[in-house]
Amino acid sequence: MKTDVLIIGGGVTGLFTAVSLLEQGCRNIVIIEKSYIGSGGTFRCATGIRASFTSREHVNVMKRAIDLWPEYARKLGFLYRRDGYLWVLTRERDVEFFKQVVEFHHSLGVPSRMISPEEVREIVPSINTNGILAAVYDPLAGKAQVFNAVLNAVIHLKRNNINVYEGMRALKISDEGSRIVVETNKGRVEADKVIVAAGKDSANLLKGLGVELPIHNLAKHVLITEAFKPVIKPLIIDWSSSSYILQVFHGNIYIGSDIPEKYDEPAVNKYMFLEKAAKVWTRYFPWLGEVYVLRYWTGYYDMTPDHHPIIGPLEENENILVAAGFSGHGFMMAPAVAEALTQYILGGKPTIPEFENLKPDRFKKGKLIKEIAVFG
Ligand SMILES: Cc1cc2nc3c(=O)[nH]c(=O)nc-3n(C[C@H](O)[C@H](O)[C@H](O)COP(=O)(O)OP(=O)(O)OC[C@H]3O[C@@H](n4cnc5c(N)ncnc54)[C@H](O)[C@@H]3O)c2cc1C
Repeated sequence: MKTDVLIIGGGVTGLFTAVSLLEQGCRNIVIIEKSYIGSGGTFRCATGIRASFTSREHVNVMKRAIDLWPEYARKLGFLYRRDGYLWVLTRERDVEFFKQVVEFHHSLGVPSRMISPEEVREIVPSINTNGILAAVYDPLAGKAQVFNAVLNAVIHLKRNNINVYEGMRALKISDEGSRIVVETNKGRVEADKVIVAAGKDSANLLKGLGVELPIHNLAKHVLITEAFKPVIKPLIIDWSSSSYILQVFHGNIYIGSDIPEKYDEPAVNKYMFLEKAAKVWTRYFPWLGEVYVLRYWTGYYDMTPDHHPIIGPLEENENILVAAGFSGHGFMMAPAVAEALTQYILGGKPTIPEFENLKPDRFKKGKLIKEIAVFG
């Protein structure tokens, strides 16, 4: 099989990139997915979307993504809503730190603000504010329906005659001069450009080319409760315990919380997570103690040393591009990443200049970035 652009990975990154390329008139695209669409990090994500980060790179990339999310929601037909993020702070030192973070947000046009416990209660009337000293409210943040976004992207692509192959695994990538050749379990694919958007497996795939991507997988845990009427509008983060709670569109509640995990260890369910999740969130919402947990899943954050993604062409071969290492933020970034990859593929540079700082060669050059606001 021959194609202009081969995308390895049928997660949100690969699919949105294909949608974006199509929009720009690039029609000869093939997507291969080793398992089923969304089976990587994408269908395990908590669907949160925010620009309230602590690096210029994350903030500016995410501001662009937030501009683009409504367009994707309209075009593909899924729900996206700016219901906000609320970072609740229970330690003096965190309040002082977040005052600086809010100033940083303002310098980049993110409208977050420090609010009092009384204002927290106005936003989330059912919350117990005992112990909350202050909170940061980010009204620009929100959430989107992941299943509809991804599955409708596939329908959109197929209607436009883009081939999306499930059960097709890339085994080896080689540079054969004018073309890139990808050996798969279903035969060989030749492409002018290859995008490696294979989530946690991206580093392994590129090893064969002598490219080392510093990506390590870290197990993360989320539980889902039974559904009920809307009571919690924003995604709430308890900063001191690195935990979050979110009521999704169907009324179910997602809870994520950090428990001790080591890089590259199996992602398996642990009772300790349920205990911690219950302890943290029944303190804020005592009524949660009466709510049934339906299910609990684990997945990987594909972590980089500086907690920023690796996006762009390889220094070794400009025809091979990477989009991986999202460190827990690949869903929210997808529209902006798709746009940047499209611009690279079409021979240009990304409109958002900070993408230049996310290129794969930054590790070799020692140009790491800093991000503190990672949780869950
Ligand atoms: C518990 C949890 C909560 C999260 N919450 C959020 C959140 O609230 N907001 C947010 O923005 N992000 C969140 N994330 C992160 C987000 O899910 C990921 O960053 C994002 O889904 C990455 O998408 P992707 O398409 O790059 O990778 P993936 O979804 O992992 O897709 C990569 C695909 O490539 C396929 N693949 C791998 N190897 C090959 C191969 N050799 N050949 C062919 N196909 C291959 C895989 O099967 C997979 O489907 C969360 C992640 C987890 C685990």
